[in-house]
Amino acid sequence: MRRPRPENKSDARRRERREYTKKKVCRFCTDKSLKIDYKNYRLLRSFITERGRIIPRRISGNCAKHQRELTREIKRARHVALLPFTALPK
Ligand SMILES: [Zn+2]
Repeated sequence: MRRPRPENKSDARRRERREYTKKKVCRFCTDKSLKIDYKNYRLLRSFITERGRIIPRRISGNCAKHQRELTREIKRARHVALLPFTALPK
């Protein structure tokens, strides 16, 4: 029995993914006026999933420095109940 070649499959997937992946640029490096602050939960909310998880750097495209700050501020915001630790999906 013959199996399909695995490299073909992954090639196709990679190409497919490229099409809908936005160009990754760190939003905070691009816009210096954006402040990473726990009080600015509206901004932080765009970096967490519906279920309240922090979006990983490889998806959000943030640079290491800003992702670190973001994580810290999200955790702070959670602590003062501006953001959820978890949430149930709709
Ligand atoms: Zn950055």
